[in-house]
Amino acid sequence: MKFVSTRNGKKPVSFREAVFSGLAPDGGLYIPTEQPDLRARIGAFSKKNTFQEIAEALSGDLIGEELSRESVRRVSERAFTFEPALQPLEEGLTLLELFHGPTCAFKDFGASFLAVVMEEFLLQESRQAVILVATSGDTGSAVARAFHRKDSIDVVILYPSGRVSTLQEQQLTTLGGNVTALEIQGSFDDCQRLVKEAFVDSRLRESLVLSSANSINLGRLIPQAFYYIYGVCRLERATEEQLLICVPSGNFGNLTAGVYAWQWGMPVDGFIAATNVNDVVPEYLMTGEFRPRRSQKTLSNAMDVGNPSNFERLSIMFEGSVDKMRKWIRGVRITDQETRETMSQVYRDTGVLIDPHTAVGVLASRRYRRDSGFVGHILTLATAHPGKFVDIVQEATGVTPDLPATLEDALSKKKQATTLTASLEVLREFLLEHYG
Ligand SMILES: *Cc1c(COP(=O)(O)O)cnc(C)c1O
Repeated sequence: MKFVSTRNGKKPVSFREAVFSGLAPDGGLYIPTEQPDLRARIGAFSKKNTFQEIAEALSGDLIGEELSRESVRRVSERAFTFEPALQPLEEGLTLLELFHGPTCAFKDFGASFLAVVMEEFLLQESRQAVILVATSGDTGSAVARAFHRKDSIDVVILYPSGRVSTLQEQQLTTLGGNVTALEIQGSFDDCQRLVKEAFVDSRLRESLVLSSANSINLGRLIPQAFYYIYGVCRLERATEEQLLICVPSGNFGNLTAGVYAWQWGMPVDGFIAATNVNDVVPEYLMTGEFRPRRSQKTLSNAMDVGNPSNFERLSIMFEGSVDKMRKWIRGVRITDQETRETMSQVYRDTGVLIDPHTAVGVLASRRYRRDSGFVGHILTLATAHPGKFVDIVQEATGVTPDLPATLEDALSKKKQATTLTASLEVLREFLLEHYG
C-alpha cells in the first residue's frame, strides 16, 4: 500500500513514512492511494480465528511489503495482548466491547499497534526516536502505556496542569522508564501549540528524531479496521440478516476505520454515526453543509469535538458527495439527558453497565431502528469501560462500577512529573538536555 495526502494526490509515500511523519507536509492527512480487495481473505476467516490471527493476516496483506513476515507476526503478537469481546444486549443488538486493553478504551488498539510498528522500523535502522504528545487526558494515557518500555523510543507527554482528572494524571505520570510526563502551566491548547512548535523548531530537528502519535496517525487508524472485521466474523446471526455497525464518534477516526474495512471487503450494509450534541457530521448528513464550530462539554467527553479531523478522510472516500455518504452512513444525535436515561435503563433491563460513550451508541442504534423500521442486526461499538467514568455511571444507575485492575494500579503509584512553563524555549532546553 502507498499513501498520499488528503490535500494532494501526488507524491505517494510508504507506510513507514506516513507513520513517522503523522501529518503530511501540506497539512493534510495520509490516506491509502487505493483500497486493496481483501474479500477472499476476509471470507476465509472463521469464528475460530483469534484476534491476533486476524490482525496478523490483514497486516501482512496491507503492509507486508515493508515488514518481513517475522516482523508482522511479532507486531500482532506484541501489540494485541488483549481482544475485543461480543456482548449481546437485546434482540438484534450486540455490543462489540473494545475496552479490554491496558487503558480500558478502544484507543489501546491503535496506540499499541503504532508503538510496536515504530519499534520494528527503528530496530531495523538502529535509531532512537522521541515521541511528543499533547493530551487533554485520555489519548495520552493510551499512548504512554503503548510505548512504555519500548526500546529505541522515548515518550514525552505534555498535559495541562490541574486540568486533567486524578485518574488520568495518575495514568500519565506513574509509568516512569522511557515515559516522561511534563506538567505544563497552561491549557491543553498551550500543550498542543508547544508540540507543533517543537516539530518545526530547527534546533530540535537537528538533534533529535521527533515523531507524533496523535489520533490522526495512519498507524493508529489501520489496526482499528481489524476489530470491525473480527466483530463481523464472530457475530451470531442469520446469514441473510442485514447488518449495520453503530460507532460513537468524536474525531471520526473510528468510523473512518470501519469504512476502510468495508471498502476492503467486510460484509456490512451500512454504518450509524452516533454523536452527542456535538453533531457536525449528523448535521452534514441531513443538510449537506459541513459547519465546524466550538465544541460543547458533555458527559461523553471523548466525543466533544467541534471540528472532526477525520472528516477529511471520510469525505474523500465518498468523493466529496453527501448523497454517496448518505447511502452508507446515517447520523444520530443524542443529548446528555438521553445518555443518562439509557445508562440507567440498560442497567435495569439487562444488568449491563455501560459508559456514557457507549450509551450514545446504544440509544442511536435503537432510535435508528425505530425511525427507519430496520429489521436486521446492529453491532454497536462499546468504546470505553464503565469503570473509567465511575461518577457518571454511579449517578445514572445507582451502581458503582468496578475500577479495572490496571486503573486501580495506577492510582496507587507515586506521581512523577516535571513542571514547565508553557514556553518553547523551556521545552527545547528540556528536550535537548535529556535526549540530545
Ligand atoms: C476517542 C473516543 C471516542 C471517539 O472516537 P473517534 O475516533 O474520535 O470518533 C469515543 N469513545 C471513547 C471512549 C473515546 O475515547
